[in-house]
Amino acid sequence: MGKWIARILIFTSVFGICLFITSYLDIKHGGKGHVSARSSSQKILSNEIDSSLKKIRLEAQTQKHKQISVYYVPHPDDELLTYGVPIRNDLHAGKIVYLVLFTHGETSSIIKKLNLMVYPKLTPYELGLARVKEFNHSSQDLGIDNNHKDIFDPQKEQARIELIRKIALFFEQTFPHVTQNGLSKYDVIPDHAITGMVLDQLYKEGKIKHKRIYASIYMSRFAEHRLTGKRIYPKKAKDNSVFNKAIHDYDRWDPQHRWYACGYMSVRPQFNSFHKHKYSVLVKE
Ligand SMILES: [Zn+2]
Repeated sequence: MGKWIARILIFTSVFGICLFITSYLDIKHGGKGHVSARSSSQKILSNEIDSSLKKIRLEAQTQKHKQISVYYVPHPDDELLTYGVPIRNDLHAGKIVYLVLFTHGETSSIIKKLNLMVYPKLTPYELGLARVKEFNHSSQDLGIDNNHKDIFDPQKEQARIELIRKIALFFEQTFPHVTQNGLSKYDVIPDHAITGMVLDQLYKEGKIKHKRIYASIYMSRFAEHRLTGKRIYPKKAKDNSVFNKAIHDYDRWDPQHRWYACGYMSVRPQFNSFHKHKYSVLVKE
């Protein structure tokens, strides 16, 4: 019997020592031994969103009574070609317009063509910066306050989806009168479609109250299977020159000052079409 008690004692002490060593190692590594690269990068992204949203959080108290219109912009140029008209109309209606650009558009296929014309050649990152520069000028011309836009660049689609969701919920929980604007979930370009998908999901979950879904200029004017809906025209005739100025930002060629006409180089027919006929298409989704 004494032999069995001794065996049990040895077994439990060995087990106890192992447990002690394991927990010691875990504490020594700050308990981070099990954090994967994925959750680390999500943490960085979420800190980035938090600090960025602080800007508007500061204004939340003074602007609580105002109507907020948030636009999810997949690429530089969507704010003008697809959303330009409703953005101007919202501003005229006294709403605060907030833009969320969530890619730099650096994966654009124009880099090959562009690099035949400029020296030194552009890296994809530099192309992204040039496109964001066009976006910044265009949104300024449209009348967007510099504090009312944020630019993110999560690399993975899942991170983009989470970003849109998080920002939509932030606005919904911070302001009482919010409209969330996205693109159709039936868009053939995935970065466009996810905006509509996320807003649709949040709406079904009862987490957002008002959404407006637009057909991208490509889907309403160029695609084989076009999306149709209600055409939205500019409420003020003088906005024509505002749009033309913003269009010009995407057609500026001055490589010495890092202007590469990226917008025109990538979707010239869409710019020409918008230049001639300024309207957006609101779809029922
Ligand atoms: Zn786009």
